[in-house]
Amino acid sequence: MAPLDPIAVLKFGGTSVALPECWDRIAEISQAHIRAGRRPVLVCSAVSGVSNALEALIEASLEEQHPPLLEALETLHEPLVARVGNDARVALKEAMQALEKLSTGIALTGECPPRLRARIMAQGELLSTRLGALLLAEAGISCVWMDARQLLDSQQGAGDQHYLSATCRYDPEPGLQRQIQDAAAQLVVTQGFIARDEKGDTVLLGRGGSDTSAAYLAARLEAERCEVWTDVPGMFTANPRLLPSARILRQLDYSEAQEIASTGAKVLHPRCLLPVRDRRIPMHIRCTTRPDLEGTVITARPDRHGATVKAISDRSGIVLVSMETVGMWQQVGFLANAFDVFKTLDLSIDLVSTSETNVTVSLDPSANVLHSEVLSALVKKLEPLCQPQIIENCASVSLVGRGIRAILHQLAPAFELFEEHRIHLVSQAASDLNLTVVVDQSQSERLVRQLHALLFKDGSSAAILGPSWSELFEPDIEIERATVPTPWWSTARTDLLEAASGQTPVYVYDAATLDRQAAALQSLQSVDAALYAMKANSNPDVLRRLRAGGLGFECVSTGELHRLLEVFGLEIFETGPVLFTP
Ligand code: ADP
Ligand code: ASP
Ligand code: MG
Repeated sequence: MAPLDPIAVLKFGGTSVALPECWDRIAEISQAHIRAGRRPVLVCSAVSGVSNALEALIEASLEEQHPPLLEALETLHEPLVARVGNDARVALKEAMQALEKLSTGIALTGECPPRLRARIMAQGELLSTRLGALLLAEAGISCVWMDARQLLDSQQGAGDQHYLSATCRYDPEPGLQRQIQDAAAQLVVTQGFIARDEKGDTVLLGRGGSDTSAAYLAARLEAERCEVWTDVPGMFTANPRLLPSARILRQLDYSEAQEIASTGAKVLHPRCLLPVRDRRIPMHIRCTTRPDLEGTVITARPDRHGATVKAISDRSGIVLVSMETVGMWQQVGFLANAFDVFKTLDLSIDLVSTSETNVTVSLDPSANVLHSEVLSALVKKLEPLCQPQIIENCASVSLVGRGIRAILHQLAPAFELFEEHRIHLVSQAASDLNLTVVVDQSQSERLVRQLHALLFKDGSSAAILGPSWSELFEPDIEIERATVPTPWWSTARTDLLEAASGQTPVYVYDAATLDRQAAALQSLQSVDAALYAMKANSNPDVLRRLRAGGLGFECVSTGELHRLLEVFGLEIFETGPVLFTP
């Protein structure tokens, strides 16, 4: 028997398969592997936007409002179809007919059980790969289309939940390896996100689960490498779309990457690291539009960088359940009884924080279905045990890195930042890989920015940190400075403490900041006149400074007009501009 070629599993996400040009790049990336003697197995997502549109189609069908969504789905595939022509039109038509039938069924019955939902959602990946195979053939690559439901088996058959969030076996499968090898083609194209259960039904791996499909397949095929090709060139120190100053993490070990993914970094599905970790398969994260960049490599390399914070992640939509337990202290079995209530309601708990009189837990909406009825039932069932309170609209912010405990003292300035925010819960992972706080959702973005500015100061030369997003994609713009200026009070600490030593409270204003902001406003081309709202602060020195900076004033009361008169005399009403809006 001929020896097997080494296999490279390459996963392409929604934005990486959406347009014909994307498939040109996929062809180039695949060719490079073929030239290196590897056999690529491509695992592809649905075209960007399609899985969301399919979810919307289901909801619309329940209301008998589905036709516009069917149209929208067709439109999303149009660019790919236009490039290939007739065969692609046939594939699209077949998929649309199947979807039309299924949505009519939902509209008639008024229900869409998980089994049916999975079949509908699967159409996205089935169609993108059908079209993709045609596009690759057009690019001169011989490829075989395989149905992922023949390649991945889900483990559980019981309960309905597995239809939407299944886990699969990933033990090596030599038969499958031989099948790939014997396929009379240069590469194999298959779907992410879908698998088959013991009854042969279609199941999904959870939203974003195509990364996990790739990891399962890499393990089953004992692949040499698994590459996740997406719209960012790696895992960054924070979400680079939120924070362009975030820097690429060149290397990570499996546990750190796992922690960054499970604390909220969407770039990898949290379940995709276990299979590659177990089989010691290196996982690469690469950018489809910038294949020149090396991206992030995730391996089992022992960490040679010592204890450091590697990333800051956040997750929104967290619901907290606070359980006041006065009188329950030292009572045997309280936690067991309380947690049993969550179990009865099928609610999975994420973070836990305890004190003598309070236990607070978080519920992650991605792992729980959190309708208001479920939450009311939870409160009702907890009431005999404690005083429960539901706190909604929270977000978790996590500092992730190996040995976080060893560097808690270096995080002192970060803790000072926490003082400004209302912290509902603090949790330090037993694995010593993360420190997580839960704050109001409205605060999380600001907290991430502040923590990032503090912990990843410009110019940190740690070997694992690559360039920032703005250096790679917007080299001319100093985003960091534009969005997160170093606050003036951090450099004026000694003066401020001195000013505050005599009396308190003391109000201190920074003239340079006022001048800078006035100049920034004056430089706006699209604004005719910049007026300072007096109600913000009518301190005479502040007013003088802003007037010197070219601003006029907006007053809403006669008191404010009098203040202008006091500070500038009558002349201000001649030179202005003063706007009085009583
Ligand atoms: P795909 O469709 O290719 O699977 P996703 O949208 O699922 O891509 O994941 C990529 C996105 O993950 C990026 O566009 C980025 O906004 C987001 N992201 C969040 N946190 C991080 C992080 N720490 N590093 C890189 N990307 C991140
Ligand atoms: N298409 C699926 C989703 O959007 C799976 C994936 O892309 O990973 O959730
Ligand atoms: Mg994804």
